[in-house]
Amino acid sequence: MTHPYLTEDHDIFRKSFRKFLEKEAYPYYEKWEEERMIPRAFWKKMGEHGYLCPDIAEEYGGSGVDWGFSVIINEELERVGSSMIGIGLHNDIVVPYIHSYGTVEQKQKWLPKCATGEIITAIAMTEPGTGSDLSNIETTAKLEGDHYLLNGQKTFITNGITADLVVVACKTDAHAVPRHKGISLLVVERDTPGFSRGRKLQKVGLHAQDTAELIFEDCKVPKENLLGAEGHGFRYLMEKLQQERLIVAIAAQVASEEMLRNTIEYVKSRQAFGK
Ligand SMILES: Cc1cc2nc3c(=O)[nH]c(=O)nc-3n(C[C@H](O)[C@H](O)[C@H](O)COP(=O)(O)OP(=O)(O)OC[C@H]3O[C@@H](n4cnc5c(N)ncnc54)[C@H](O)[C@@H]3O)c2cc1C
Repeated sequence: MTHPYLTEDHDIFRKSFRKFLEKEAYPYYEKWEEERMIPRAFWKKMGEHGYLCPDIAEEYGGSGVDWGFSVIINEELERVGSSMIGIGLHNDIVVPYIHSYGTVEQKQKWLPKCATGEIITAIAMTEPGTGSDLSNIETTAKLEGDHYLLNGQKTFITNGITADLVVVACKTDAHAVPRHKGISLLVVERDTPGFSRGRKLQKVGLHAQDTAELIFEDCKVPKENLLGAEGHGFRYLMEKLQQERLIVAIAAQVASEEMLRNTIEYVKSRQAFGK
């Protein structure tokens, strides 16, 4: 039966992406789980083949294709294993913030490298004391001359250790009423003074998925790294969290299908009681 949204191009794309993963990911996935990291070299290969950020505009290094291609990438990565989710987070959760709210200069500076895998991204919202209640974050950024002084701690950050560029949710106005009006997004680059990594977290699952703590101590972020308008961060997060939830749902659906497939395969092949 033909699908109302997926075309022959999507089918061809899925087949060639699967072939790529059979060569470059499936044979190594167990090793990556043991080593608790997906190597940077794999990201670069994804970039070389056009599998990173395919939906961003061609002028910024993408292919300008529809989001169906990104859905296929997420589905096929999830079939390899759930630890691949950091790539979907880069493609479909973090990079869209820069694509949607960045200035032309910011886009020209960062997006082409996001598409080649030279830049791996992360988004830092969660803090030790703040998860669901985002308006309560305590990380602050104070404008001082030509830079913001960023102070605070983040936790559970996907791609936290590997990330070259982190979109950080922080309070530029700690006294704003209502509280969410004081939130802004700052882009923090790898070598920014005052930015360091905390623990790489050991989780019960998703072993190769890099999840870490980030620390900002008088971190000097150039003021041109503000994403969008000051005080509009919460609105941007609410807009983009929709696609994040969709990505998580797609991954959950594929993971369930794979678990069922594995179970059926196992019960059909197992010999017990002489049968
Ligand atoms: C593998 C992994 C990767 C992650 N990656 C990232 C990342 O890249 N960037 C990032 O910023 N964060 C990341 N997170 C953090 C994630 O976004 C948070 O875990 C999530 O927002 C929930 O926050 P919390 O864990 O503090 O739970 P809490 O907010 O403390 O919630 C705990 C429980 O209380 C419930 N609850 C919350 N508020 C209420 C309320 N008002 N009334 C009733 N019940 C309530 C919740 O539904 C939940 O069941 C990651 C987490 C994991 C596990």
